[in-house]
Amino acid sequence: MTHCLNCGAERGADACESCGLNSIAAEFALRRRLLNRTAIFVLGALAFVAASVRYPPLELDGVLIFIGVLFFLTLGLAIVVERRALHHAEVEALKRVYYGLIPLPWLLGALLLGNGALDRSAARDEEARVVGKFAMAGALPSRRLVVTSWRDGHRIERIPVDRGEFDRSTPGDYVDIAVHDGLVGIPWVGGVSRR
Ligand SMILES: [Zn+2]
Repeated sequence: MTHCLNCGAERGADACESCGLNSIAAEFALRRRLLNRTAIFVLGALAFVAASVRYPPLELDGVLIFIGVLFFLTLGLAIVVERRALHHAEVEALKRVYYGLIPLPWLLGALLLGNGALDRSAARDEEARVVGKFAMAGALPSRRLVVTSWRDGHRIERIPVDRGEFDRSTPGDYVDIAVHDGLVGIPWVGGVSRR
């Protein structure tokens, strides 16, 4: 006994008793749905990255690594489901896990956006010294100032900055980093000003 690839009902014969599709039609229906949901997921990941640029968390690198791992795990799962569907194998459980992961980047993006946009707390200025900087070109250009950390247990911070601030700063400069606590407790960087 397998489950219908289209509606998930248990199926004894080739044609599903619940939705009426035969196994070939059900396979196509599932693969079309997989493709649509994958598109929603990829858009969500882009929305998440956009949110992380607008209100950059202090721990931006960790946040981006997390979403990257989630991204590839989810797409890997989509590939497994699709391959199993091609062979008309059982996909019901994996499919549900996959569908459950689809809204995650949207929810995390909304969390990050709300954390910054709805944060009414005043920023506090943290004094730091620039010790280096690096920029990465590409689809998602990123510019960071490497500064001495004000937090216990941290030696340096990599502060995301815009192009103007990046160009103005040189190692040895003293800067003030405006840090907000964040509505849900994710500290984010409001800006950098020089002393
Ligand atoms: Zn069915």
